[in-house]
Amino acid sequence: MSDLKGRRALVTGGSRGIGAGIAAALAKAGADVAVTYEKSAGRAAEVVARIERLGGRGFAIQADSADPAAVRRSVDEAAEKLGGLDILVNNAGIGRAGPVAEIPLADIDALLNVNVRAVVLASQAALFHLPDGGRIVSVGSTLAERVPFGGLTAYAMTKSALISFNKGLARELGPRGITVNLIHPGSTDTDANPATGPDAEAQLGFNALGRFGKPEDVGAAVVFLAGPSGRQITGSAITVDGGANA
Ligand code: NDP
Repeated sequence: MSDLKGRRALVTGGSRGIGAGIAAALAKAGADVAVTYEKSAGRAAEVVARIERLGGRGFAIQADSADPAAVRRSVDEAAEKLGGLDILVNNAGIGRAGPVAEIPLADIDALLNVNVRAVVLASQAALFHLPDGGRIVSVGSTLAERVPFGGLTAYAMTKSALISFNKGLARELGPRGITVNLIHPGSTDTDANPATGPDAEAQLGFNALGRFGKPEDVGAAVVFLAGPSGRQITGSAITVDGGANA
């Protein structure tokens, strides 16, 4: 598969989990890929090595998504290293649990800064680089559309915010031929939500297929949207959740 040969992509939070799966899927499809990370320099280096084994050029950029200047710099740095930017994947995200009655201000701020503000700022910075035919794909969550239990209310709110951002930005960028889409993963086996974790069984209770997804399941959806197959899809969302929200 080489639908993305010569395309240049940035995946935020690409050192582990879903972001690493997206980076590998893009590289398999022929793209050159830069990933950002916050702390995991070693894991990011492993992802770069994997991208290179798959035949692409890979770069790792340290950038805390909670820091506006770092977010902007990372997009410009990725475009500089890659020689341009065709695809931005806003994947970096954090979870903070706790009922609204108890969730600390610091957690609310962290959720908003990483899951929402960084998506706006990275997309804004990418506008200077993306050509006609460019792509923005953001990673939401099934919790953006359906919140089947309490305790993740503030997190769910940050992912719902991406729905309107996605639709509005698709309107703004349509005239430039840039598509803007969202992917809502359901339970996906990562460090943040291990398939063997204490909450896994409860999550599987909602899941039609009875199994957690893998990072590459989300990666496949990104490749579909980023390639020629996605040319007429914008302002839209794809749910990759084993039927949890069905
Ligand atoms: P992980 O915690 O496994 O990985 C998170 C990735 O994001 C890492 O690469 C991490 O970098 C990076 N990251 C976290 N915080 C920051 C930050 N402040 N600045 C820069 N990078 C950061 O998470 P997942 O792979 O599970 O989640 C990825 C996305 O998918 C998130 O947006 C999440 O909300 C969403 N999602 C996940 C689901 C799941 O079941 N796993 C379900 C629905 C949505 P580092 O390695 O340096 O820490």
